[in-house]
Amino acid sequence: MSQDAGETDPAVWERITEAGIRLLRIPTPFQVGRVNTYLLEDKPLTLVDSGPNSGKALDELERQLDALGHRIEDLELIVVTHQHIDHLGLVDIVASRSGADVAAIDVAVPFLENFGDDAERDDEEAAALMRRHGISEEVVRALRQVTGSFRAWGSKIKVNRPLRDGELLEFRDRGLEVQHRPGHSPSDTLFWDSDRRILLAADHLIKHISSNPLISRPLDGSAQRTQALVTYLESLKRTRELPAEIVLAGHGEPINDHVALIDSRFAMHQRRAEKLYELISEESRTGHELAQAIWGDVAVTQAFLTLSEVMGHVDLLVNAGYVREVEDGEVVRYEAISDTPADWLGDLIPGGNPVAAGG
Ligand SMILES: [Zn+2]
Repeated sequence: MSQDAGETDPAVWERITEAGIRLLRIPTPFQVGRVNTYLLEDKPLTLVDSGPNSGKALDELERQLDALGHRIEDLELIVVTHQHIDHLGLVDIVASRSGADVAAIDVAVPFLENFGDDAERDDEEAAALMRRHGISEEVVRALRQVTGSFRAWGSKIKVNRPLRDGELLEFRDRGLEVQHRPGHSPSDTLFWDSDRRILLAADHLIKHISSNPLISRPLDGSAQRTQALVTYLESLKRTRELPAEIVLAGHGEPINDHVALIDSRFAMHQRRAEKLYELISEESRTGHELAQAIWGDVAVTQAFLTLSEVMGHVDLLVNAGYVREVEDGEVVRYEAISDTPADWLGDLIPGGNPVAAGG
């Protein structure tokens, strides 16, 4: 996870500024570093995401708004791009100080308004999933503590402007089309300015790191584990079709070649699935053993992340009929059910890789 030095063409920044969009980089305590929030200097005066719930983040937000000639109290609308705490922790505080409306995709509203209430259940389910995939009790317990302490960086949010997928959010100087594109999280929402060809994409597409399709509980409350990577790749395909010229991400630099970036992501996911298939072909392994074979012994905080990565790619292999899940006492293992060599697996991207198809 290297941080790009940020060699964005000044002409790109110029276009962003001309569009009345200002980038505010808010500090977070997480490994990802600063989070990008965007001020839309329009009517209503709008903040897209807020940063995490901390005094330091709030101070920075105030300072950076001030440098642009605005105050928190001036904000009229806050837009939430997705359910992760580094993006939404301050929304409630900023909304109560400013009286701004709060907009978020409708399917995320129950989760946002009840943030933290289901913490116990969420932790239980995550722990059960980790044990089932071979993560040791010790790590499960340690991770649970980390997750509990992270929750303080989030906050409940009152949403009074629920958004429908496909609706147009109208401003004095622009219209933003709301596009629900789940995968990185179940609530990922993009905001598309088709006139300017600028896309606000949050963590759906990030220049210097591949977005983790994290295992998370479905927003409709169902118990079934969703196939986060499959969902993500399907969403990414739709984004590839947009004639975007600038994509503004939730971390790092603006993207001005999203098709090439998305194609490189498809290729990376294909390679990673092939690598996992190779490992599974050698011997049947648990999700955790697969994660260790690729990343070695990672920090406790990364255990769930790497398991999510593995599960996402194993889903591709299971769906394509190359691998199956086998119960083995308390855990499940993955075993190969094909003699096909890894480099002959063909396209594993759901619905076909548009690059391989020449599209
Ligand atoms: Zn995120």
